Amino acid sequence: VEASRRMQRVQRRDTRPERLVRTLLHAKGLRYFVDRAPVARSGRRADILFPRLRIAVYIDGCFWHTCPLHGTTPKSNTAWWIAKLATNRKRDRENDELLATEGWAVLRYWEHEDPITVADKIEAVVASTRSKRSE
Ligand SMILES: [Zn+2]
Repeated sequence: VEASRRMQRVQRRDTRPERLVRTLLHAKGLRYFVDRAPVARSGRRADILFPRLRIAVYIDGCFWHTCPLHGTTPKSNTAWWIAKLATNRKRDRENDELLATEGWAVLRYWEHEDPITVADKIEAVVASTRSKRSE
């Protein structure tokens, strides 16, 4: 019961940092898709997607993706959580590898990172990808 309650509490699609990054990107004039799978076989949907530029952005939750600063293991059902979080990390790696082989750039940020900095980094990658294409 505690596990499912925790899932409900944490597992929301529109987490606040993610929404802030999207708002900032939109203000910069960038247009993107939200919560879309980059390729059909990809297990995990990207939080922000630039399909034509093949850029997939993930804003990883500190808990779900075991951030080195804030990752924690719940005190109850500990073994279950350790396995669950290890599976998440494995899926992240597999997803990144799949996308890389399909020619995608994968950008990962932690939800604790400053949204302004994250949005600036994404904008820089988008700009450099665009200029490479037009060469
Ligand atoms: Zn963190």
